[in-house]
Amino acid sequence: MPLPKEYISFSQIRTYTNCPRQYFFSYIENIRTAINDKVFLGVVFHDAADYHLKKKIDGATPGKEETSEYFTGTFNKMAENTEVIWGDSKEKAFKRGLAFIKYFVVEIAPGIKPMMTEKEIECKLPNSEVKLKGIIDLVEEDFSLTDFKTTTAKWSKDRLNKSLLQMYIYKFLFEESIGGFIKELKFKIVYSKNATGIKHQEHSIPAGNADLKKMFEIINFAIDNIEKGYFYKNEGYICNFCDYKAICSRTEI
Ligand code: SF4
Repeated sequence: MPLPKEYISFSQIRTYTNCPRQYFFSYIENIRTAINDKVFLGVVFHDAADYHLKKKIDGATPGKEETSEYFTGTFNKMAENTEVIWGDSKEKAFKRGLAFIKYFVVEIAPGIKPMMTEKEIECKLPNSEVKLKGIIDLVEEDFSLTDFKTTTAKWSKDRLNKSLLQMYIYKFLFEESIGGFIKELKFKIVYSKNATGIKHQEHSIPAGNADLKKMFEIINFAIDNIEKGYFYKNEGYICNFCDYKAICSRTEI
């Protein structure tokens, strides 16, 4: 069968690698589920950070108030049109998100020299007609590539290692589509469980260490299996957090 979206992306590969049946429900059957408030806040945060950095590229860096106002407007507009499972409450989630973006403006953004932000890029995979697609959060003037994350707690080394594939894909996409060589890959992770005590951590990986051979192996494995229609269950701990648990338990192995 052809790829359902006519391209492959990091989120598709991650879903297929986690559980092929989950991929089936999400991308083949296109079953939409409510998102949790942490995912929702991540989307709004990215949008507001992009607003701030794009203005900076244009030479008009907005202050904390303007960026917070933009965050508030986006939060309210998106909340009206999105089915969200709010944790404690919508108000609490809003306060946490607002505190995150204020922290970003004061503690992180001043050190950033943006060249390109929130850009969707695609290119064909080597020796293939399949397109690879991704949205890169930030490339700076020094050709470092950054992905922003918002989360509740500091990342472990294991979490970092599991996320490297995403960075390798973005490096490949940028170099193939835009040109030039990415020198450094960075994760900037803003974290806290609530609206106080916000911190961030930065992980930097020399781009020369990117294991592209392994990256293509993982991508091609997912593409081959999707095209062959292999959507087996990968039952285990992840089932506890799976949006499709109820549907899945009613379907055959
Ligand atoms: S419940 Fe488990 S096996 Fe079923 S789709 Fe979700 S992760 Fe896969």
